[in-house]
Amino acid sequence: MHRELAADLDQLPALLEEARQRAVDFLGGLDDRPVIPEEAGRPTPSEPLREDADGLRAALAEFGERWEPRLSAGAGPRYFGFVTGGATPAALVGDWLTATADQNSNSSLDPAGQHLERETVGWLRELFGLSPAHSGTFVSGATQSNTVGLAIAREWLGERLGVDVAEDGVAALGRVRVLSGSAHSSVAKALSVLGLGRTALTAVPALPGREAVDVAALERALAGADGPCVVVANAGTVNTVDFDDLRAIAALRERYPFWLHVDAAFGAFAALSPHHTELVAGLDRADSVCVDLHKWLNVPYDSAVQFTRRRDLQARVFQNAAAYLGPVGDHPDLVHLTPENSHRLRALAAWFTLRAYGRAGHREIVERNVAGARALGAAVEAIDGLRLLAPVRLNVVCFTLTEDPTPERLAALASELSAEAFLTPTRYAGLPALRAAFSNWRTTEADVRRTAAALSAATAVITSAHAGRTPPGA
Ligand SMILES: *Cc1c(COP(=O)(O)O)cnc(C)c1O
Repeated sequence: MHRELAADLDQLPALLEEARQRAVDFLGGLDDRPVIPEEAGRPTPSEPLREDADGLRAALAEFGERWEPRLSAGAGPRYFGFVTGGATPAALVGDWLTATADQNSNSSLDPAGQHLERETVGWLRELFGLSPAHSGTFVSGATQSNTVGLAIAREWLGERLGVDVAEDGVAALGRVRVLSGSAHSSVAKALSVLGLGRTALTAVPALPGREAVDVAALERALAGADGPCVVVANAGTVNTVDFDDLRAIAALRERYPFWLHVDAAFGAFAALSPHHTELVAGLDRADSVCVDLHKWLNVPYDSAVQFTRRRDLQARVFQNAAAYLGPVGDHPDLVHLTPENSHRLRALAAWFTLRAYGRAGHREIVERNVAGARALGAAVEAIDGLRLLAPVRLNVVCFTLTEDPTPERLAALASELSAEAFLTPTRYAGLPALRAAFSNWRTTEADVRRTAAALSAATAVITSAHAGRTPPGA
């Protein structure tokens, strides 16, 4: 054994203790470190790979010096960019133990990991109001979940048309139409990966002033299509958290043949609260459902789940026949169900947080985040120079500058704010905008007040700089 490996093995308990202390310090400092540190954008000169190196303690020291100060407070309570959850204490420990046990949980030849994943999927299915008709598998994120769901949809189209896409390729299908109101960008990416092409995605008009699809327009599009289609329904859009009417869309299947995929990446969590569960009524009727776990379940990256009613088609797409893996059978091993063959015991972090806090614990996170978003929305309305672009439907606040809302001025506002709170830019209703998404279990009322105060101060800086601008040529 190499000298440094042997030395680290010898001192393993002490080294893990040092790493634990480093984690405690990092988490303890989350509230105080700039949400986006200034150093983050400054490139650090790359170090060459060493031939002879000096072990874990030296690596910890160098990480602490060169990289840790540049990391964002992405796990913290005022990181409102994208839709970014944190990691609950139980989820974090689950993730540590995932790496500790280092299982490749994909086959019944070494089955415990698969059993744990199935138990966790069962809990998640219940959490989101799905029935046992939906089977589920863990994947790395909602993009991958959408990709797997649409791959199963592609196989279903083949079944309808009497061709076997998994065997004969996508050319056998001809032109495919994927209809959606306000599809997430990852859907186009998935269609590119799947060989269906980004232009297969056909935008269906939304209801006036909304991101939810106009179901009458969707019906017209289905009536105009010759042959079976795929419909991607959206349960929680990233700009304004709007929801398609899933029941009305599912009812259209009585008249038109289509595969119903629902992108409920974070919107599925509305099902946890009796105040919001109506938003996802009908989710159980979907043929495939995408739910992210590294967002609102607050497990560390990377984790999502893919549900489907047609595991048989899923196995047709993803089966990995090899002598040493055994037959696919009626209860396929995980190796036959996703793009990955080997994968970590990704379910463990979700198992831990669900076991530790249960349904009520996770409901509390959802409801507190929604209350936080509403409070920040009210604060935005009260700040001179800002205006909301949409009502706060769930956990996202989408707003812009009242005057001259250019991308540059909004970027300046976000940057002025970024030590205190991190928001990301978007475009909504034809206007450049900013959005604050709430999905971290640590976010409290005090964080909302702190963010509102910082936003008010930053807006004053931006608008006064604008008012005092010297006109060109003066
Ligand atoms: C975040 C998100 C995705 C993509 O998720 P990743 O986890 O980044 O792959 C897809 N759809 C919706 C609605 C999302 O919010």
